[in-house]
Amino acid sequence: MATVVMKFGGTSVANVERIRNVAQHVKREVDAGNKVAVVVSAMSGATNQLVAWVREASLLHDAREYDAVVASGEQVTAGLTAIVLQSMGIPARSWQGWQVPIHTSEAHGAARITGIDASEIKKRLASGEVAVVTGFQGIEPGRNRIATLGRGGSDTSAVAMAIALEADVCDIYTDVDGVYTTDPRIVPKAKRLPKVSYEEMLEMASLGSKVLQTRSVELAMVHRMRTRVLSSFVAPEAIEPVRGGKHWQDIGTIVCDEEEIVESQVVSGIAYAKDEAKVTILKVADKPGVAARIFGPLAEANINVDMIVQNVTPDGKHTDMTFTVQAAELPRALEVLKGAKADIGYFDVKASADVVKVSVIGIGMRSHAGVAARMFQAMADRGINIHAITTSEIKISVLIDAAYAELAVRTLHTLYGLDKE
Ligand code: ADP
Ligand code: ASP
Ligand code: MG
Repeated sequence: MATVVMKFGGTSVANVERIRNVAQHVKREVDAGNKVAVVVSAMSGATNQLVAWVREASLLHDAREYDAVVASGEQVTAGLTAIVLQSMGIPARSWQGWQVPIHTSEAHGAARITGIDASEIKKRLASGEVAVVTGFQGIEPGRNRIATLGRGGSDTSAVAMAIALEADVCDIYTDVDGVYTTDPRIVPKAKRLPKVSYEEMLEMASLGSKVLQTRSVELAMVHRMRTRVLSSFVAPEAIEPVRGGKHWQDIGTIVCDEEEIVESQVVSGIAYAKDEAKVTILKVADKPGVAARIFGPLAEANINVDMIVQNVTPDGKHTDMTFTVQAAELPRALEVLKGAKADIGYFDVKASADVVKVSVIGIGMRSHAGVAARMFQAMADRGINIHAITTSEIKISVLIDAAYAELAVRTLHTLYGLDKE
């Protein structure tokens, strides 16, 4: 008998009919004798609506009340899922984050899970009950308030529950049948990856592939939790139950140790992120201490800087500094730079949110040279100007004009041999 966590995303629980379909997937695992904890998102669109209402009520709002409102979407789907399961004769009970309890940090709206007391859920699973847990939320014990985990946070709830329950696998059911070489909605030629390493998945998620929340991959990687991405839109009977046969793992994508991946490509995936903004500070003095005077105040204001390029200007005394921040942080970043103008000493600041970061990711890059050179050449051949570059051992990112996003992703997908035949 296996312990399984099954997470269902927004489109999978978008209405009662879809919840009935989800219940059939759960029934398959229960019938096979597995212990099942289900984690659900809100119905697709529900969280957006809740966020919009909060903003309408007041643009400046209390973060604890924001969480009280936006966490409610998952309460609805958890209750409905339990009701549907019960109606099928499967003992089930819904659990909100605070009832489990799932403890979180104080960072309302973007809280981290700090611990889960899974003892009661374990007892219920042992007695044959299915636990349906609300994703996206927990309770901040200091103030005894509901806290949410940031958008897409139900993935993290699921992986954290799987770790707490010592589950055999954490199954993430969504609207695509696995992790693809790039977003299949942008590139129809994208291929499903049967397996992807934790390291690559972490880069893909943090560089914009929203199929899994970054934090969920971090947790899975640290705890070596086997995590699988698969579609809830496949007929429930077409999937073998967990440990229910030789081929149960031959579906979807398994996020696992790189040692398990036999045929690895140099590049495994392409990601893109549209939520960055570019800032250029014109004509700052080219002398020691300038970077510290620019990035110090930004760090103090809790603004994360991602890519940084320092240009050389012809007079040798001045330089331009280009860097990126999250687009949502741009107005704040500009305020901070304005406030520090006298201290930094610059001519002007230019900013643009019309940029996109495109990244190629692959553990094979560690042992293969020339991946970056080919990328830059391909961009040049298409007339795509690169504003900034960052690299790590297993990824290269370039910042380009947003208008070229799809062209760049498609070009790179073909360049590294990822297109499906
Ligand atoms: P859920 O509501 O189930 O959490 P999400 O919308 O958060 O679903 O994530 C699934 C979506 O992620 C897919 O519909 C797909 O468009 C997008 N996506 C982006 N990059 C990838 C990728 N590399 N592989 C698969 N899906 C991806
Ligand atoms: N419902 C939340 C959101 O839309 C959490 C999730 O779906 O993972 O962000
Ligand atoms: Mg999601």
